[in-house]
Amino acid sequence: MGEENSDMRVLAKTEPKPGMTLQEKPIPEPEPDEVRLRVKSVGIDGGVEAPLYQWVPSYQHYEEHLPQVFGHEFAGEVDALGSDVSNYQTGDRVAVEPSIFCGRCRNCREGDWNICTEKSGYGPSGQKSIGIDIDNDGALADYVTVPASNLYTIPDSITYDEGTFLELLAIGVHAVERSDFEAGDRVAVTGPGSVGLSALIAASVGGANEVVMIGTSDDENRRLPIAKKMGATQTVNIEEESLEKPVDVFIEASGHESALKTAEEHTQKGGEIIQIGVYHGKDAVPVNLNHLLNNGISIETIFGRKESSWHRAIAIAEQIDLSPVVGPSYDLEDFEEAFAAENNRVGIKITLNP
Ligand SMILES: [Zn+2]
Repeated sequence: MGEENSDMRVLAKTEPKPGMTLQEKPIPEPEPDEVRLRVKSVGIDGGVEAPLYQWVPSYQHYEEHLPQVFGHEFAGEVDALGSDVSNYQTGDRVAVEPSIFCGRCRNCREGDWNICTEKSGYGPSGQKSIGIDIDNDGALADYVTVPASNLYTIPDSITYDEGTFLELLAIGVHAVERSDFEAGDRVAVTGPGSVGLSALIAASVGGANEVVMIGTSDDENRRLPIAKKMGATQTVNIEEESLEKPVDVFIEASGHESALKTAEEHTQKGGEIIQIGVYHGKDAVPVNLNHLLNNGISIETIFGRKESSWHRAIAIAEQIDLSPVVGPSYDLEDFEEAFAAENNRVGIKITLNP
């Protein structure tokens, strides 16, 4: 149980310049439909917390709302229950879906609350999210309050850092479940980061005949070997070699324009390109639609996770070893080291343990 009426540590963005500050703040009380979590693990997302820490121009619109506590990929232990929450108990181990959704619109009712039509957000994706939006604190803290509807119980066999990774794994699962992928298919993935590796894992455990992970020279020494460990049948440094055969399903998880071109060129007639990578700093990227339609190739886009993705991701995490893609982990006090490690592309999913 938390200590009532006392303070907790938060890692806040306090000033419009690089860095964050460890400070004290009262421990929050859960609203009736919320629980309070003792945060055990929180991830640094290279597309959210890292650029906020570095204070890149595309995040400087947060200036008028500082100080703010970010942190949207996390897992923890249920510490206190709101008055209306009956399906959780203190001590439960949980991972958290960060999307804030209405639960009532058509998409929400179909389990697609990742694209809720009623909740718009302040972050770059436009969807409302815990730890990204301006009106709710995130998990770079000892405690955080979250809607009970956003929790997923995790078994003891899944560590809290792996629990944090589930949010990413579920995106990869979503990519595969949304596609026409079937066991025996040949799959390629561009971008061996958290999400690309998650898609690789999902395709691999789903029975892909071959899964090729495509990276660049930057990935050659570390990320491509990790892809091998996680089930890639082949790795390709696209700066030096090409794909031998076209694939049935091409999952683009890098967000680089050149990778989309690679996908167009190496997807089988009748195949599918699944776009998960976000093109940062670009409003539009060219797509060779004539080539795609002449070859019956479709494009699907993936945003976030849906209900089924979480359940499948938890089941996958119970059966495989995720340790190659999780960590290194740092104490909250060592946040400077952790953000430097993220910046230097150490590990895959760097976490802080408050
Ligand atoms: Zn909704």
